Amino acid sequence: METTQESSVAPDRSLVSEDGRNSKAVLCQRCGSKVLCPDTAVFKEKELFLPSMRKKTGLSTTDGSVDGDTLSSHWLVDDVYTFENVGFTKDVGRIKYLICADCEIGPIGWHSLDDKKSFYVALERVNHG
Ligand code: ZN
Repeated sequence: METTQESSVAPDRSLVSEDGRNSKAVLCQRCGSKVLCPDTAVFKEKELFLPSMRKKTGLSTTDGSVDGDTLSSHWLVDDVYTFENVGFTKDVGRIKYLICADCEIGPIGWHSLDDKKSFYVALERVNHG
């Protein structure tokens, strides 16, 4: 009867404040540009597929396959104006991916055009400090 649910990638709980928000600023892993101020996003577990990190090249190959990871730990932001800095890829179907506004590394996050109030930033794709 017992179900064991072990997430392969447990989030670092020190990053999540008692009320479930980001206790530290969210920074670009490559250039350190600030993406979010502390306490502006909510921790959210959701499985989302993000293509592998690369700099401003096509996110899909010609045969339509995409390398990437299914990530489950995200910062959820409900308003694009909450971001200090963020960029977006061109639409990929109904999806836009978030990239660093300064160095354009990405994707660091995920946004669906069907849900204008949900911007996800993957914890594994950013630094915290
Ligand atoms: Zn950057």
